[in-house]
Amino acid sequence: MAEVLQSDFSLLGLEEELTCSICLSTFQCPVTIPCGHNFCQDCLLATWRDTYSCPQCRTHFPTKPELKKNTVLSTVVETFNLRMSQISRATSRRPANISCCIVTGFGSGSPVVLQIF
Ligand SMILES: [Zn+2]
Ligand SMILES: [Zn+2]
Repeated sequence: MAEVLQSDFSLLGLEEELTCSICLSTFQCPVTIPCGHNFCQDCLLATWRDTYSCPQCRTHFPTKPELKKNTVLSTVVETFNLRMSQISRATSRRPANISCCIVTGFGSGSPVVLQIF
């Protein structure tokens, strides 16, 4: 159906918006910093060692800003990845790559690791 195709195309345009400017892939656990930019939590923390500045717009933060998980963006990324995997499966251009984002006790502790024997 034409409508379905059209929504797929707009989805592809969305990829840029959902791409982390550090790792250049779709966000893994996206967080928002005070300047309004979004990054993967891990990518951002990797760039924040002695100074805290936005890798995108270079806004400098005197103290480490509180990272807020962008739940809306996270949901959009999940939906996007799912949709993209469906599209790629349908076209078999690339293997499905569904990123898994486990957020357990976010911001306050370490993730719980499940061991499956
Ligand atoms: Zn990243
Ligand atoms: Zn910024």
